[in-house]
Amino acid sequence: MLVKAYGAYAADKPLESLEIRRRATGAHDVQIDIAYCGICHSDLHQVRSEWEGTQYPCVPGHEIVGRVAAVGDHVQGFKPGDLVGVGCIVDSCKHCAECADGFENYCDGMVGTYNGATADEPGWTLGGYTQKIVVHERYVLRVSHPAEQLAAVAPLLCAGITTYSPLRHWNAGPGKKVGVVGIGGLGHMGIKLAHAMGAHVVAFTTSESKRDAARELGADDVVVSRNPDEMAAHLQSFDFILDTVAAPHDLDAFLALLKRDGAMTLVGAPATPHPSPNVFNFIMKRRSLAGSMIGGIPETQEMLDFCARHGIVADIEMVRADEINAAYERMLKGDVKYRFVIDNATLAG
Ligand code: NAP
Ligand code: ZN
Repeated sequence: MLVKAYGAYAADKPLESLEIRRRATGAHDVQIDIAYCGICHSDLHQVRSEWEGTQYPCVPGHEIVGRVAAVGDHVQGFKPGDLVGVGCIVDSCKHCAECADGFENYCDGMVGTYNGATADEPGWTLGGYTQKIVVHERYVLRVSHPAEQLAAVAPLLCAGITTYSPLRHWNAGPGKKVGVVGIGGLGHMGIKLAHAMGAHVVAFTTSESKRDAARELGADDVVVSRNPDEMAAHLQSFDFILDTVAAPHDLDAFLALLKRDGAMTLVGAPATPHPSPNVFNFIMKRRSLAGSMIGGIPETQEMLDFCARHGIVADIEMVRADEINAAYERMLKGDVKYRFVIDNATLAG
């Protein structure tokens, strides 16, 4: 089946309208009419081959929501009309220890929603900037938010789970002081989620203009990280810091804010490395530095249900397909509060 999409033919070319082919709906597949797709900074890293290895044409998009259009003969959990989502994972080996534990995100055979190996045409996966996607039922999530919130649910499929998973893993909750660094798509979800989990939340931003806005998201305090005095006021006080920044920066400035046994997790994935942190910042207070990648499928469902229960969605700005390139430039400047979401109906032209 041929569908309209938006993608790029080379790292240095803008995205443009194109047609792609979706496979026929197999026995375990769910065919989805995509209503909206969020624009993640990873889409930009990938489409410009900043992580290298991008295959073209590249159709990004892994914050996908829509309605089930058809299901395969063996699918029992979904039916046409259901509100569903697809995140960053569309396949995995299904039998390793990671898959057995519901950590498909850490399976060596994990297939990303775009630029992943597949038998489908053209040989690599094509993401959510398109009208339809066909996905094995295991990787389809159920959306229980009201239908009118659907566009704002889209970013939960990546920004939501990527922040929820480490916050849960490092026990963000009542009595814990949690920092969130970078108030973009991921960071603004991190603030909302940590607040809903009951933690005391401090937002770190390089943008003075986000100072008041961050409080509205649920931050108890906001620090403009360029200001050394504001940073010094929080020395050795954090249980956990989640760093979502999309560019290399000084990690020591944040490690110094962790108290004894505190941990910082990096989820931002810059194209070039951070300067190496000072080993004494780990030794002196038994601090840890960790990483985390999206989340497993059961955990993603748990996050969506948590968000529906707590009335949490992303703060979004809707764009048409022909505005995607401009949205990328604004995202690079941090000029979005806080996630662009594509209205996929505009792909038809
Ligand atoms: P985003 O919306 O662009 O937000 C990144 C934020 O980082 C900016 O809003 C900005 O916040 C801050 N920042 C500070 N200095 C920056 C600089 N020089 N360049 C860019 N940003 C700077 O991006 P996102 O979609 O949240 O993604 C953030 C990073 O996480 C990306 O690298 C993305 O690839 C990665 N990611 C990782 C995973 C994973 O599984 N680990 C999943 C999804 C995304 P302030 O204005 O508040 O300073
Ligand atoms: Zn993403």
